[in-house]
Amino acid sequence: MDLLAPGWQAIVGHDWAVRLLAISIRHHRVGHAYLITGPDQIGKMTLARTFTQALNCTAADGQRPCGECRACLLIAADRHPDVRVVLPEISERGAQSIKIEQIRRLQQDLNLSAYEAHYKVAILKRFDTANPNAANAFLKTLEEPPSNVVLILTATDSDALLPTINSRCRTVSLRPIPTVLIEETLMTRHHVKPETANLLAHLADGRLGWAILAAREAGLLQERKAHLDTLHQALNGSLIARFTLAETMSRKTETLPAILRTWLSWWRDLALLAFDRQAGDRLSNIDEVELLHEMAVGLPRVRLLASLKQTEVALRQLGQNANARLLLENLLLTYPRSG
Ligand SMILES: [Zn+2]
Repeated sequence: MDLLAPGWQAIVGHDWAVRLLAISIRHHRVGHAYLITGPDQIGKMTLARTFTQALNCTAADGQRPCGECRACLLIAADRHPDVRVVLPEISERGAQSIKIEQIRRLQQDLNLSAYEAHYKVAILKRFDTANPNAANAFLKTLEEPPSNVVLILTATDSDALLPTINSRCRTVSLRPIPTVLIEETLMTRHHVKPETANLLAHLADGRLGWAILAAREAGLLQERKAHLDTLHQALNGSLIARFTLAETMSRKTETLPAILRTWLSWWRDLALLAFDRQAGDRLSNIDEVELLHEMAVGLPRVRLLASLKQTEVALRQLGQNANARLLLENLLLTYPRSG
């Protein structure tokens, strides 16, 4: 069965998504366009590349994708002549967007026939960052795709896409991977020590990609520590100190999503503990349990919940290109004062 092919086996979690894609190939029912959604670093691009390998792998039946043939290797490296990967361009201020020139270039390319593959494939990463001109231009391709072309879009927020784009794609929504599975994968496949694997799995919030990266690069854990220090600085700070902090932070927009995600995990932990003192195993920040307990007791529940909610809102607005400084000011004014 194709599901046992090495390439599919390498994907952790997302079993139903793998089954859906593998079966569509097996039954010759491959769609023109797919939209893979889910949080950052959950495995959207890995799934997109593996599906592309499965479409173009040259191994025997039941072995596709093999992960080892020329086609599979070139696809894994984003160097296959018939596979185009479009990444958002990053501006000086750290904002990501797919531009119309990128779409035009892709369209010219897709109109040429394939060099060597069964399918020409275009993977468009974070299509939710495409600006309106680019999205509109791409609609033409979605409406009348050249034959033997498969389009794969990824997005963290499908609500940010034009409804006409959503409706022309088969949607594959990826969900967070269970903590236990992340922990086990870190230990067995990446040789991470049990204690570190346990901490990273809890901090990962279902994002295996983040956990693997954090196991490799110590900097990510240090960053998370710095994000928490900034949060405590804000909570202990005066109104003026918070405004100053908002201003400083808004100058580095590229770091804001990671900071807000760390803060969100902190508020979620506090809210869990405020309502259930025994919530220990469900916490993310398991290395800070004592401080969490102390704060959960010391802060009013209403303020905790408001902070949690406002952090979620801020993170979402950030993805919609809101004014970072205003957004941070609102957020920091919602937060209670501690200590
Ligand atoms: Zn192969």
